[in-house]
Amino acid sequence: MEKVLIIEDEVDIAQLVAFNLERNGYLVDQVHDGREGLKKILKDQPDLVILDLMLPGLDGYKILKKMQRDPRSHSIPVLMLTAKSQIDDRLKGLELGADDYLTKPFSPKELILRAKAILKRNRVTPGSSTFSHGPFHFDKDNLCFSLNQEPLSLSLIEFKLLLYLCQRPGQPQDRNDLLKVIWGYSDEIHSRTLDTHMKRLRQKLGQEGTLIETIRGTGYQIRQIE
Ligand code: CA
Repeated sequence: MEKVLIIEDEVDIAQLVAFNLERNGYLVDQVHDGREGLKKILKDQPDLVILDLMLPGLDGYKILKKMQRDPRSHSIPVLMLTAKSQIDDRLKGLELGADDYLTKPFSPKELILRAKAILKRNRVTPGSSTFSHGPFHFDKDNLCFSLNQEPLSLSLIEFKLLLYLCQRPGQPQDRNDLLKVIWGYSDEIHSRTLDTHMKRLRQKLGQEGTLIETIRGTGYQIRQIE
């Protein structure tokens, strides 16, 4: 059973979300305070976090930042809940590592669809158990990448981008294809955050970041290494 943690201070929304997830077979827990939410993420390691942005104690952005920095939580996917008017907030949340967002008010059906999509793409099923591409080595058992024998600390999105590119060396990948692979669909907001995630991934790769090339008008590719 997959575990979902809801962090939302509006108790009736939290309960509505919990009710619908439970009805769909998820094991659900809810907290109504940010600080308590972060504690629970680290302790319980849920499969998915549903995170409201405006929270008492610790707001959603701070939680996202802390999750990214902690190896216990950086690969746990996050679906954020945002108010309709807050487009900038949505962008900021996605840039801080959230996987997707839902705009309030949302339908239970939409909620379940999004949650399922995130959990599905979290189950990484690469073709081979381990492979290497140049300085990169992928280990399926531990679901991790190492670079020149040093483990890389990647967010789920960075991990998926690197895996996808490494499996297709020397082949330019179209932005829309990347968006569909990572987020399940493409739209303008996710398109802008793709570049942010790519930038952060390159930074984490240090000198080897130049192996990821921007293909003008198309998207990205990882350089073929002989
Ligand atoms: Ca709130």
